[in-house]
Amino acid sequence: MVTVSYYNREELRKYIIDLYKKFIPVKALAPEFGGDGEADRASVLEKELTALGLKPRRFDASDKRVKSGVRPNILAVLEGEDPSRTLWIVGHIDTVPEGDLTLWKYPPYQVTIEKDYIYGRGVEDDGQAIVIAMGLAKRLIDNDTRPKINLGIALVSDEEVGSRYGLLHLLERKAFNEYGTGYFLIPDAGSPDGSKMIIAEKHILHFKVMVKGKQAHASTPHQGLNAHRLGMMFNLMLDEVLHENFSEYDSLYEPPVTTCEPTKKETNVENLNTIPGTDVVYWDCRILPRYKIQSIKNFIKTVSYNFSASIGAEASIEFLGEDDAGKPTEPDNLFVKSFSEAIKETRNIGVKPIGIGGGTVARYLRKKGYPAIVWMTCEETAHQPNEYTKLSYIISDIETIFHYITKKV
Ligand SMILES: [Zn+2]
Repeated sequence: MVTVSYYNREELRKYIIDLYKKFIPVKALAPEFGGDGEADRASVLEKELTALGLKPRRFDASDKRVKSGVRPNILAVLEGEDPSRTLWIVGHIDTVPEGDLTLWKYPPYQVTIEKDYIYGRGVEDDGQAIVIAMGLAKRLIDNDTRPKINLGIALVSDEEVGSRYGLLHLLERKAFNEYGTGYFLIPDAGSPDGSKMIIAEKHILHFKVMVKGKQAHASTPHQGLNAHRLGMMFNLMLDEVLHENFSEYDSLYEPPVTTCEPTKKETNVENLNTIPGTDVVYWDCRILPRYKIQSIKNFIKTVSYNFSASIGAEASIEFLGEDDAGKPTEPDNLFVKSFSEAIKETRNIGVKPIGIGGGTVARYLRKKGYPAIVWMTCEETAHQPNEYTKLSYIISDIETIFHYITKKV
């Protein structure tokens, strides 16, 4: 177990709380959630980065739907001994809405501290990344410690809705290129002991199944064709053959298989004595990256074609969205290996590199060939009422990354 060099822990705790209290009350909601974007929160954070002695740069994406006309993205770099490499800590500025206010024990946009706990919308997702990155910069600067490589802080917009105005915009503008080789740490998911290190994701595929029959009175089914019954038959059959045909197992992933789930169901008829003429069901698939999304799409289309041909009723598929996972960051990648050592040495625990079904901005980085790790210490309270994290988690995350960037690189 490594003891990290002395620093004023109380001062760092105070810095973290003050920082949270400055930006959490300034809402940062995407226009899709009825919000006005991240501009106000970004200017607060930009000021704080400047106060640390850094020179933040803006890479805004224009978006006419918000008052400011832009979705802000900020990069700030603290130069290291070897400026040809940069550890980027990526945090997203935007949050999801607070949801049902009556479920909150404290007002969501007022940061409430209760012993070690910090409550508020966005304190974990993804305010934790922001305070980790800035708290680490403060610690390095206050201690006059030069990191071995650059510490880059990337504060991005639009993560909750798809990153088009956020990380994808930064990648389009090649914003990271001038800072040399990039290693990306994305504190946006994790586990309470910090042993979970996410290095891979699954492809995501969303689609809609529409089965058409013929509406009739429930007492005269022979005059109609029950789309609800046909829909159940088709969706259950699809469920079975998808799992049979894409059945490979990969222990890197949690869960270790491709998942395909029927989810939302559209309302069909208003009254219970009508046989519905249309049946609509939505699916969410999380696909192991060894499969090609296109091959699953083709398979689904074949199944629906064969069903339609044999039943004589149309089962049609509409693909609504897909997102390629990119290549996993290899478990023996240098960044992954040194970062897991840093976790082990600062916490005395084993580290488990895993893949997940959820999507983070890491996939876009992996697609560009950057090594990317999603990691932090948290209890995964994101998007829930009473979202919280702990000061001790944040401090220990800062310690681990401090150890990595000053010793392990
Ligand atoms: Zn998040």
